[in-house]
Amino acid sequence: MIEVSLSTALMIYLCLTLGSLLGIWGLQHYFGRKSKLEVAQHQLYVCEYCQFCYLEDPQKEVTRCPQCNSFNQNKT
Ligand SMILES: [Zn+2]
Repeated sequence: MIEVSLSTALMIYLCLTLGSLLGIWGLQHYFGRKSKLEVAQHQLYVCEYCQFCYLEDPQKEVTRCPQCNSFNQNKT
């Protein structure tokens, strides 16, 4: 059995805690950036009927307003 003093044990515990926190932060940073890029691929539309602004995939020919559920034509 390896003998570890109290201060060394505390140091190891702190390093493990900080390491796991940094790991979580790094993962969240990486995946957060990915989802931001996904939002940029969407286009801003304004509903013809209620003037509500929403984001939708520009590849769709008809988009649906999330506010009033009416269909809007893609005019791009
Ligand atoms: Zn609408």
